[in-house]
Amino acid sequence: MTTPRTPTTAEELRGVGLRVTAARVALLETVRSGDHLGVEAIASGVRDRVGHISLQAVYEALHALTAAGLIRRLEPPGSPARFEGRVGDNHHHLVCRTCGVVVDVDCAVGHAPCLTASDDRGFAIDEAEVIYWGLCPACSTSRSS
Ligand SMILES: [Zn+2]
Ligand SMILES: [Zn+2]
Repeated sequence: MTTPRTPTTAEELRGVGLRVTAARVALLETVRSGDHLGVEAIASGVRDRVGHISLQAVYEALHALTAAGLIRRLEPPGSPARFEGRVGDNHHHLVCRTCGVVVDVDCAVGHAPCLTASDDRGFAIDEAEVIYWGLCPACSTSRSS
């Protein structure tokens, strides 16, 4: 009996046609173990794993992994870009207006109803991004007290 094995990070990179480098492996692991991290936090996570890496190299790796679909970039208006490892499930985000915390929320119940635009204007739509803005529990509590 063979034990099902999840592919290693390096195998996943190869699987999408990317050259495997220590920086890319470290970056993918950092993004996946984090929670909607910004570029600075990702850079320090990568440095913890592989030592010095320039911010430029981090940006290049983020771009390559995002383009390959291994990570997802979200950019709430007025807030710096964040990256996450949860991809391909059309999930959405709750963003706090006060502290900027980002929380995952599954797609609205049913079959991705937000993909059915009231008028698609001829576009072949494949993704809808929804950001629910508001105050997180901690911030709404501190505001009312
Ligand atoms: Zn908050
Ligand atoms: Zn998310």
